[in-house]
Amino acid sequence: MKDEKLIKGVAIWRISRLFELAEEDTRKDPAGSETLAKRYIYLAKKISAHYKVKIPKEMKTRICKSCNAVLIPGVNCRVRITKGPLIIYICNCGSEKKEYITKKDTKPSAK
Ligand SMILES: [Zn+2]
Repeated sequence: MKDEKLIKGVAIWRISRLFELAEEDTRKDPAGSETLAKRYIYLAKKISAHYKVKIPKEMKTRICKSCNAVLIPGVNCRVRITKGPLIIYICNCGSEKKEYITKKDTKPSAK
């Protein structure tokens, strides 16, 4: 069972590395390298499904579900803030991603 933990750890490491690369590519050239960044995210999703590992929440909330782009406000997505505890990210492909803010998120970290 030790090996299984090791394999899952490596899978998470690979997912986070792919996400970093995708983010880097999107920031460098939002129009030109979009396909490569999307490919990285596609591979990260494949790794997650194959090894039955969840993509970390902070990464998952920044991936467009319909086109696999990394959502970076001001680069390839627009942000709309509503009255309630809701933020809407609108991707360049037109799909929307809604994120609810909870009380836990708004509290500053105690230390
Ligand atoms: Zn999209």
